[in-house]
Amino acid sequence: MTSNQKLKFAMAAFAVLTIVPNLLGSSKEALVLIALISMFFFVPFLGSYAWYRWMREIKKNNHINTPTLDQYRKKYPHKCNGNGIKCHGCGSNKIRSYGLESREDTLRVHTCNQCETQLYKTGDW
Ligand SMILES: [Zn+2]
Repeated sequence: MTSNQKLKFAMAAFAVLTIVPNLLGSSKEALVLIALISMFFFVPFLGSYAWYRWMREIKKNNHINTPTLDQYRKKYPHKCNGNGIKCHGCGSNKIRSYGLESREDTLRVHTCNQCETQLYKTGDW
């Protein structure tokens, strides 16, 4: 949207929210109309945000049994010595991490690059 389009949109919204209710003549009906218009504006936004949060919780729950790094260290102390962390399945030290939802996600799951075993999770889970 260019700034000209935004101005037109704002003017149209202003017209709908002020002139149309006045044409109806009743302040009660005007309030209902404003409430309806606001709902059509905000419900899709709130709905899609709620959907996003819900899907994210489901994805987080898929990793509820994946240990955190501290838990992994306690569970496999012999795999976490001075030479870095190793896979408890195959002993490889090539560990790949991916974000829960995207490349930049701070919630990360670490898997073995050799045998694909899910090892641990990092971030604020
Ligand atoms: Zn492995």
